[in-house]
Parts: sequence; C-alpha cells; structure tokens
Amino acid sequence: MSFSDLGLMPELLRAVADKAYDTPSPIQIQAIPAVLAGRDILANAQTGTGKTAGFVLPILQRLHADTVHGTQRAPRTLILAPTRELAAQVAQSVRDYGKYLQLRTYQVFGGVSINPQITALRNGCDILVATPGRLLDLVQQRFVDLSKIQVLVLDEADRMLDMGFIPDIRRIIKLLPQQRQNLLFSATYSDDIRALAERLLRNPLSIQIAPRNAPIELVEQRAYRVQKEHKRHLLAHLILTGQWRQVLIFTRTKHGANRLTQQLEGAGITASAIHGNKSQAARVKALDMFKNGQITALVATEVAARGLDIKELPHVVNYELPNVPEDYVHRIGRTGRAGLGGEAISLVSADEGSLLRDIERVLRRSIPTLPTPEFRIVESAPVAADANRPARHGHGNRGGERRDIRRGGHMAARGRGQPQRGRFN
Ligand code: AMP
Repeated sequence: MSFSDLGLMPELLRAVADKAYDTPSPIQIQAIPAVLAGRDILANAQTGTGKTAGFVLPILQRLHADTVHGTQRAPRTLILAPTRELAAQVAQSVRDYGKYLQLRTYQVFGGVSINPQITALRNGCDILVATPGRLLDLVQQRFVDLSKIQVLVLDEADRMLDMGFIPDIRRIIKLLPQQRQNLLFSATYSDDIRALAERLLRNPLSIQIAPRNAPIELVEQRAYRVQKEHKRHLLAHLILTGQWRQVLIFTRTKHGANRLTQQLEGAGITASAIHGNKSQAARVKALDMFKNGQITALVATEVAARGLDIKELPHVVNYELPNVPEDYVHRIGRTGRAGLGGEAISLVSADEGSLLRDIERVLRRSIPTLPTPEFRIVESAPVAADANRPARHGHGNRGGERRDIRRGGHMAARGRGQPQRGRFN
C-alpha cells in the first residue's frame, strides 16, 4: 500500500514524498479514502499514529477541488484543538502538506495578543485551526465568519472535554452550517465522547486504530523505585551517565517543573520548562531549543506537553506519575513515534506505588522495576541563588560550589545510612 493508492492528487503526493514518508500508516489507510468520499469519521487514535496527515491530506484535496477565489474568503474547514501548541502544530502540518496548493491556513489561539489575529483574519483563509475559547472571542467580535464551514475536525476531543471546552464547542457547532462533514479524533472513549459523537456525527466510519497499546509496544518501559527527595539526583545521574541528548520530563505541577529545571541546570544539564504560566513566546522558544538540540531536557506539565510533535524522542521520564493512568499512555506516546522505538522511565516514590499499579492495570502488563543504580547525591547551591544565574549557564555550579555528600541507589536500597532529608531540598 502506498500513498498513491489512496487516491491523493500529485501535489499532495509530492508534499508527502518531501516528508520522506514511505508508506501510509494504518489510520491514514482508513481515513484518507473515507474523508475524500465525504464521510464522517469517529477515530480512536492517539498522537503518533499519523492521524494529522490522515485528516489534513484529504481535506486539502477536497478544498482544492472546490477552490474559492478572491481575498475575502471565509474559512471552509475548521479544526479545533485543545492547546495552542497542538493548534500551531496542526496548522504547520497543513502548510507542509499543502505547500504545492494555493490554499490559505491560519491559526488562532489564546495566550497571545488578539490584534494580529484579527488583522490576519481580514485577509481570509481556507482552513482555520483554533482553540475553542479564542475562536469564540473572535466570532463574538465578528472577526470570523463560520457560515461557510464544510468540514469540522475535533482533534484530541477527549482532551478538549477534559479541559472544560464542551460548552464552547457546543456554541461553536451551533454557528456552523447544518450540511457539513465532521471528523472526531480522540485517544480515549468516555461516555462524554460517545455522547458528543452521537450528536455530531452522521453515519460515521468508526476507525479503531486504538494503538493505545500499539505504539507502546515500541517503547521500552521501566521504573525505578526511589525516594522522592532523591529523584532529581537519580535523574541527573541517568542523563549524565547515559549521555542523553534529548529527554522530555513530566512533572505534576508548574512550580515543580520550574524547580526541577533549575536543579538540572545546577547539575550541569541544560534544561527549560514548558507550562501554562509561561508566555506563548517562552514556550515556543523552549520547544525550538529542545528540538534544535540546544537544550537537553524539556520539563513539562501534562497539559503543556499534550500533543507536542517532537520527533524520534529517545527518552521520556515520568518524574512524578500521573494521577490518571491514561495520561501515562499519552506521555510515553511522545517516544516510539511512527515506528521508532524509545525509552520511558518512571521514577516511583513510595507514595506512588498505587498509581503505578493503576497504570499497569490499564496497560494490562507490568512495568519492570530495575535495580536503582548507584548515583551521587550532590548538594548544589540553593535554588534561590540559582534563580539569579543566567539561564543558559548550566555549568556554573560545577566544581567548588558542589559537594558530593553521599551515594544513593544500592546503598540506600540496602539500608546503609538514612537519607539526610532536609539537606537535599
Ligand atoms: P501525528 O500522529 O499526526 O501526530 O503524527 C506523528 C508523526 O508521524 C509526525 O511527526 C508525522 O510527521 C509522522 N508521520 C505521519 N505520517 C507518517 C507516515 N506515513 N510515515 C512516517 N511518518 C509519518
């Protein structure tokens, strides 16, 4: 099976060839002909399956066949996404796949000034990628006309529901023409998703790629049991001794992400945090630096990292386990993408044992716990002092300011010596 077997036009095949995709992924094989034929779709697929190309390629083809000329055109396809990162990423995919077509794409999301978006929207577009809240603002101020929408895509619908966007989505749907094609993508199926699908979709093709577990097959999962206050030392040890060049680390809180970023930098590891309190510009910069290899570690909260397309990510670390087992699946879906393997490591403290068991139950498999390696516990300068340091001078704490004060890992596991709690935090 090749992309040309799916009925795609030469301009799209060229764009796919530029991306060096050899063969269509299973979701693309099912979704592309169905979307080309105008069918509604309910797809159970997570990030990493190639779902974006699965809906973007056929939508581009349909829009091209029905080209509207003139500059004042209203969007004909609306793609709703839960986060600004995902919206920006999907818009970029639309531009990449549509590079040989004359279609216009624009993205709108919150967290940045609305004025440039208003100006850009005046120029018209064919495909609008949006987060629900900002879109409604723009619609209410009459800067967006949704009356020409022919195709609606809800990408990561489960996450949009989790984030409380359902009333916004309902409002948006009411503003769309009745006659339209609807595509719903969701990594998980809850009752709410089912209810939304029932209301929205007409005779949908149900696609169960559900590689909720399939990509996970490619990910080497392991866990280390470690005391909470030693996690950062073990993490620094793993990064440094493994000579990791790129690792995405999940923390539970924004504050925890900031603190760990500073601690890693104190250990000589270049790092940056990405979470909801950071400006859009700071998030984009951190992500770019990570993708370009300028920093080793990207420390992220769940929501900020959701849907990020970071290619061939070799290492993902759950610094803290998520409360919801499905989030674990999403997190480790950052690695082992599109056929490439990766490694997902969870640092599990005593109070997280039950979370690990919940995850194993959802995965229907156990995650091997490895013997904790011997790692150095290093006392670094206090965080407050670190905070005044220029952010990219990750080696500033080497040498005199740092003192090895004890070893963790095997020794701790064998019970030789108690951790010297207060000193490490
Ligand atoms: P997605 O699931 O849409 O987030 O896509 C995951 C990643 O797979 C992206 O980096 C895409 O560029 C890549 N990708 C999509 N389709 C293919 C394909 N047929 N072959 C190889 N990589 C692909």
